[in-house]
Amino acid sequence: MTCIADLLAQVELPDSTTPDLDAQLLLTKVLGKSQSYLRTWPERELDAEQLAAYEQLMARRRQGEPVAYLLGQQGFWSLDLQVSSATLIPRADTERLVELALELGPPGAARVLDLGTGSGAIALALAKERSEWQVLGCDTVAQAVELAERNRLAHKLGNARFVQSNWFSALATDTFELIVSNPPYIADTDPHLQRGDVRFEPASALVSGTDGLDAIRQIIEQAPAHLHNHGWLLIEHGWDQSAPVGELLQQRGFAAVQSWQDLAGHQRVSGGQWRG
Ligand code: GLN
Repeated sequence: MTCIADLLAQVELPDSTTPDLDAQLLLTKVLGKSQSYLRTWPERELDAEQLAAYEQLMARRRQGEPVAYLLGQQGFWSLDLQVSSATLIPRADTERLVELALELGPPGAARVLDLGTGSGAIALALAKERSEWQVLGCDTVAQAVELAERNRLAHKLGNARFVQSNWFSALATDTFELIVSNPPYIADTDPHLQRGDVRFEPASALVSGTDGLDAIRQIIEQAPAHLHNHGWLLIEHGWDQSAPVGELLQQRGFAAVQSWQDLAGHQRVSGGQWRG
């Protein structure tokens, strides 16, 4: 017989930077229990079916599959979100974009747009923090829109809505007080696409042309037609992209163009205000 403690004492995940945590999380999934349960009942034994399920998840993890996809969920902001391989796994980095949106967005009622919403992470975090805001999330991938809607229902956020749209294509003349986006921004030749979790994530959520800026160029070009006077556009980008993104915003006629640092000191969000 094999108990929880036995399994956690012999974790073999050579390529993971967090092998023990990964194993604990996969075990909570198989047992349907919390991490504190694992600590409280280390001698609890697994039946054959549970053991097989655990071994199978560990084998997939050994191949590099992200823990979030194996669990089917990932924490973002204050929300537990369902994730699937149809969308990017929400990253802690993107919470910086949420913070800035909360700082720069209007204090009262407002319409807010999240372009390329994926699992709905940014849109739902904003809807949760600001009940006066009506938040629209859009994504070109139908499964992403369905997933975001499931997450919306799970968190009962009546002030968020999701539609399928390739950037602004389905938004006609809708206008917003604030537009945010974590678009794909990796160059298609970037070697980091061959390593780690991103190998399992959809390229459409990660990669955007030879310099990584195709989606950002399109968003900056089209956003003014959908922004109210004094509305902000805020975009997450790579650590080395603040100069070109700032330049694109200036060229398009945005005011108050600036970039903000993440916790590691990299400029990872840029934005501007539309005074049209
Ligand atoms: N920050 C992610 C990464 O480098 C990419 C996210 C994105 O392209 N929007 O793994």
